[in-house]
Amino acid sequence: MKQILTDISEIVGPGGLLQGEDVSSRSDFWPPLGGCQAAAIVRPRSTAEVSAVMKICHGAGQPVVTHGGLTGLVGGARANKDEIVLSLERMQKIEPVDSVNRTLTVEAGAPLQRVQEAAAEGGLLFPLDLGARGSCSIGGNISTNAGGNSVIRYGMMREQVLGIEAVLADGTVISSLKGVLKNNTGYDLKQLFIGSEGTLGIVTRAVLRLRPAPSSCNTALVAVADFERLGRLLRSVDSAFGGTLSAFEVMWNDFYTTVTGDGSAHGLPLAQQHPFYVLIESTGGDQAADKTRFENTLAATLEDGLIADAVIAQSRQQRQDLWAIRDDIEGLNRKMFPPIVFDVSLGIPEMAGYVEDVRARLAARWPDSRMVVFGHLGDGNIHLVITLGTLSADAVHALEAIVYGELGRRDGVISAEHGIGLDKRAYLGHSRSAEEIALMKTLKRAMDPKGILNPGKIFDMEPAS
Ligand code: ZN
Repeated sequence: MKQILTDISEIVGPGGLLQGEDVSSRSDFWPPLGGCQAAAIVRPRSTAEVSAVMKICHGAGQPVVTHGGLTGLVGGARANKDEIVLSLERMQKIEPVDSVNRTLTVEAGAPLQRVQEAAAEGGLLFPLDLGARGSCSIGGNISTNAGGNSVIRYGMMREQVLGIEAVLADGTVISSLKGVLKNNTGYDLKQLFIGSEGTLGIVTRAVLRLRPAPSSCNTALVAVADFERLGRLLRSVDSAFGGTLSAFEVMWNDFYTTVTGDGSAHGLPLAQQHPFYVLIESTGGDQAADKTRFENTLAATLEDGLIADAVIAQSRQQRQDLWAIRDDIEGLNRKMFPPIVFDVSLGIPEMAGYVEDVRARLAARWPDSRMVVFGHLGDGNIHLVITLGTLSADAVHALEAIVYGELGRRDGVISAEHGIGLDKRAYLGHSRSAEEIALMKTLKRAMDPKGILNPGKIFDMEPAS
């Protein structure tokens, strides 16, 4: 290890290699509480430096864990004392917006929010958005195929990436940075690096797809009396808005009352007794017409009895206040401490029964447990935050058996947008067939024969026979 670090320090220069307390004072998971155990943190400044570092590590069989903004929730960035962390925090360059091709080329360490701001300064929109926007990095968004709040309109991260530059395990640079929308020239190699959680390569740069910036944004928080009406409301507003629905974020009553309850910094835009709350947003290109259509649509749904109450944001501040309730995951976690988080996908018709069955089994097994539910209903994706008052391995496993068991009966998916990392890998087989996992391992073996890239994440590799 000593020789490896000496060789690496010659490449990355002073400040490029952290050791000792500079490592242990940092974190390798969220929330950032310190305690990173890695042997060292390497901070390259360019793709060429990443490549040179990986050549050394490959030669020595040295495992490497890549770090972005560390906002992942499945342990995908955790590193042990025999591993080196490669952090992309010194690679944050954002090139000027190409407004003709509507693209933006960025380095992987750039925070999502800065990318959004750069696109806006260029008069365009980078549509991926999630609560961790200030900390998470574009490289992390790519490696995990991040989802978030506007998937219903624009798709997941995969849909926002036109080109990628990545470094393979042996240091080879794959530069696939053509910013074209259509490219059917053989295998679409960039897809290998999107959502593979740093196990097949290290993303260093990307060409992102930008969209027209909307000139109108209409937002409302509505209350709904039952789940059946929720489904009808989604279909109704989606068709009335003519393709401009950009968020349909549902909060079960438990989420809303917890976040807006005792000690909350939020106002109470709607009373707390409704079974469901939905944050509805529509963005478009005609301020006056879009506003009228939005208000008329909501008035009609109120008349039809689809919604029980509604508040429409009348200013940018009011819009932010409504979103702050949905985005207040930190406030939620404080009240649900210690939180155990699940991120599942299933068909909308199955959702209400699924939540009820999980809740009933939780209450039977742990009478003091609490669960709150919210998520991206339009994407078929909900988050469950559960607290048992303990994080003991036995209790967590028993809980996972309930949450995933009920999901398996309904043909659901154990991770919709958070990935697998370390925390979910025991359950990968719930959502993927043996043949699919075997093909994943074939790819892993071909691209990383020594198994040095983010080892043990997603699945464990058997030693080569
Ligand atoms: Zn989410």
